Amino acid sequence: MTLIIQKYGGTSVGSTERIKHVARRIAKFQSRGHQVVVVVSAMSGETNRLIALAREFQADPSARELDVMVSTGEQVSVALLAMALTDLGLKAKSYTGAQVRILTDSAHTKARILKIDEGGIRTDLDAGYVVVVAGFQGADAHGNITTLGRGGSDTTAVALAAALGAEECQIYTDVDGIYTTDPRIVPEARKLASITFEEMLELASLGSKVLQIRSVEFAGKYKVRLRVLSSFDEEGEGTLITFEEGNMERAIISGIAFNRDEAKITVLGVPDRPGIAYQILGPIADANIDVDMIIQNIGYDGLTDFSFTVNRSEFGRAMGILENQVQPHIGARGVVGGEKIAKVSVVGVGMRSHVGIASRMFRALAEEGINIQMISTSEIKISVVVDEKYMELAVRVLHKVFDLDQSS
Ligand code: ASP
Ligand code: MG
Repeated sequence: MTLIIQKYGGTSVGSTERIKHVARRIAKFQSRGHQVVVVVSAMSGETNRLIALAREFQADPSARELDVMVSTGEQVSVALLAMALTDLGLKAKSYTGAQVRILTDSAHTKARILKIDEGGIRTDLDAGYVVVVAGFQGADAHGNITTLGRGGSDTTAVALAAALGAEECQIYTDVDGIYTTDPRIVPEARKLASITFEEMLELASLGSKVLQIRSVEFAGKYKVRLRVLSSFDEEGEGTLITFEEGNMERAIISGIAFNRDEAKITVLGVPDRPGIAYQILGPIADANIDVDMIIQNIGYDGLTDFSFTVNRSEFGRAMGILENQVQPHIGARGVVGGEKIAKVSVVGVGMRSHVGIASRMFRALAEEGINIQMISTSEIKISVVVDEKYMELAVRVLHKVFDLDQSS
């Protein structure tokens, strides 16, 4: 008998009808001879409602109390689903995270799972129960209720799959899989039958709307077979996230990711000497500002330019630090920056075995007259920074050039 973990998100359990639908779906799985552990989120909108309610009492509520409160959203869902399953004649039991002993650290509102004591769940499964576990929560060593960060039910599901050695962890959501890019920008975007963990992590800007990226890291680490699929569609196979690059018939490039969340900064006329990168980025790191792309030119006449990107929300702060602390200190000529940029990336494990991907990308952009402002690469990704107004065009062109369009 194989064990499957199924996770249903907020919209999948958003109403009485939806919960009953999920219960029927689980019943079908069990009748095919699977053992099923189900993880559910709070009903859609509920977590936001609870957070807003807390803020009516305190502008910045205590993280411990917030966890006690928001964890109730999931507690309602598990009980309702267990009732719906029982109503269908199944044996079902609901549990909170603490009850199934999901042990976390004490970082309230963003706790990490340390250990799961899976013995109790196994006993229930062997007795024929469907075990319904509240997502997004656990308890620390002192028994305090903790939560795992927004979207954390995905991580609960993957952690349970790892602890129980499940055959597969299925994440049911309101989309039917991971697409080659955002279909709102490219209507020809295709659903991927499979994608590797590495690609999924690099495509985070596409995938993070579908599942918590931390859960993908977790699944990669513990080799959990992860599948994303729609709870609204009875037949679809969704997208399998796998660690095998194997023999699958696949394009060289799996997807085109993009984001508008960054801003670029250039420190001009920097003296080209040891320690300069540290003198520029040290104060930025000390201010807890994340840096993404970094580019330093070859020095000329003892001077060089140093560029990098930061999250757009940190742009003003980063500029202030550079202008007030860094520039006078290192004797740079100036600091310039801009927020109207976008990052577009092509991602695919096929890059490891194929040459010429970068030049194909750059030619396609050149043919559209799109200027590339910055470039960075990893083993399976090439990213460029372009003017924000060309972002959608760049995504469309690259989607076509790398044969990702549906028709091809
Ligand atoms: N209910 C939580 C949230 O809205 C956790 C989850 O849905 O995964 O973030
Ligand atoms: Mg979610």
